[in-house]
Amino acid sequence: MKFLDFPYQRPDFEQATTELKTLVKQFEEAKNGQEQIEIIEKYFEISDEFSSNVTIASIRNAINTKDQFYETEMKFYDENNPILSSFIHKFQKVIVESPFKADLIAKFGKHYFNLIEVSLKTFDEKIIPLLIEENKLAREYDNLIAAAQIEFEGKIYNLSQMGPFLESIDRKTRHQAQLKMSEYFQANEEKLDQIYDSLVKTRHQMAQTLGFKNYIELGYYRMGRTEYDANDVANYREQIKKEVVPAVTKFNQRKAKRLKIEKLKSYDRISFLSGNPKPKGTKADLVNAAKLMYSEMSAETKEFFEYMLKHELFDLESKAGKRGGGFCTYIPKYEAPFIFANFNGTLGDVDVLTHEAGHAFQVYSSRNNYPSQRWPGMDAAEIHSMSMEFFAWPWMEAFFKEDSRKYYFTHLVGAISFLPYGATVDEFQHRVYENPELTPEARKEIWRSLEKIYSPEIDYDDDDFLKKGTYWYRQSHIFGAPFYYIDYTLAQVCAFQYWVKDRLDHEKAWKSYYHLSTLGGTQGFVGLLKEAGLDSPFEPGTIKKVLKPLLEYLDTIDDLNL
Ligand SMILES: [Zn+2]
Repeated sequence: MKFLDFPYQRPDFEQATTELKTLVKQFEEAKNGQEQIEIIEKYFEISDEFSSNVTIASIRNAINTKDQFYETEMKFYDENNPILSSFIHKFQKVIVESPFKADLIAKFGKHYFNLIEVSLKTFDEKIIPLLIEENKLAREYDNLIAAAQIEFEGKIYNLSQMGPFLESIDRKTRHQAQLKMSEYFQANEEKLDQIYDSLVKTRHQMAQTLGFKNYIELGYYRMGRTEYDANDVANYREQIKKEVVPAVTKFNQRKAKRLKIEKLKSYDRISFLSGNPKPKGTKADLVNAAKLMYSEMSAETKEFFEYMLKHELFDLESKAGKRGGGFCTYIPKYEAPFIFANFNGTLGDVDVLTHEAGHAFQVYSSRNNYPSQRWPGMDAAEIHSMSMEFFAWPWMEAFFKEDSRKYYFTHLVGAISFLPYGATVDEFQHRVYENPELTPEARKEIWRSLEKIYSPEIDYDDDDFLKKGTYWYRQSHIFGAPFYYIDYTLAQVCAFQYWVKDRLDHEKAWKSYYHLSTLGGTQGFVGLLKEAGLDSPFEPGTIKKVLKPLLEYLDTIDDLNL
């Protein structure tokens, strides 16, 4: 069956809550571990059925936000999910209090319990109205961004469709495109400030209601972090400041030379005077190239990608009314990953077929795990996607043709240069939630001051709006997924290790990667790294060690003549 034909039905919340209540009662009355295991498995079945429907609705809503039917469904979930959460919370509580805990741990693993314990700390019925408010505000932000209509050179574009202009080889065009985007955000500045201010205060109130000092610790628990805290992350950011920022400064000097520009400006978002590497061919060509690539990469990826194609588990083109960005999700009932993207003719399109496909491959490889263990935490999840981008290197010529050497250089430089930006987003949020009473203006000043630390060369030229410290408006994670962003950088540091391993020995590297993919979420980030034989980014010195071979490789490239 194709995704379009997957039947959708709004789950009966009353029935679900009644079933959950019954399960809790049965669980408490169970006489041994085996009985309790069966009840948990029954709960997993209900949860799979339920989440399949919610996921189908959310994908269809993201594909067409103008379709009132699924918009209504999503509103319904926003309002009702927190009520269901309270029942799940009750169930989790009896699970951790089980007298047969040893049997349950033997069956479901220690990490399953660690996650439940962390999740119990993040919920109390008292915060339900705040959770509902948070959902509503995050949706408001999403809709505001999706509705963006920017007039440029006589046509109307959404934010994602502006991408190619920002990468135009004509400096004037990309400069104007940046100013036009700023104009859009400036016109919505007050609204965005209001939404963010309300989100910060709502989350702070949640934290206080649950007995936390502020939102930071709660935010970490909500991200399911069981092995590291804000201190570890702060030390990790120091490694980025020390090792990565100077490397990126050197990249920028090389780029200025390539572009023959004295002083780079923020809108010089191209890597080469001849333009950034671009995928060659239509959407169908790219998908065909991906099909060939996955058939050659490994037996496992061949089977996976054929499954994706057979069931049409993609929505790739950018369209009016479609939500921005890209993501991968999973519909358990049909063992179906789904890839959502907004193709716009830039090299990001290829990333979708490698990065998002990496996520999809991982969840497909973990499909027989228990529901809560199919995905790793957000931090580890990005290892699979970012490493897949590197495993895909030997096939990039099929996508980029004559631009492939440029692609390799841009990909690696871009991935390294991303780390300081990721740290900026992360440190910004720590500063914001440490002090929820900051005014919107003070928040912007903090953003700007962090930019000066992590991206010392950034020069906004005549863009007074970005100079004020507003670049983060476009970073949806800051609104919808607090503290998530650093995960991309943590995973990137791990993915770099696969870049090195794959060049040394593909079979061995692939074996480790596939093993990691099947493990899914059976362990936390640090535990998974150990299983896969990767160095933890939290260990002092890891970034320096990981960066060394990458910088050496980049030094051998004559980028002035690509
Ligand atoms: Zn990802």
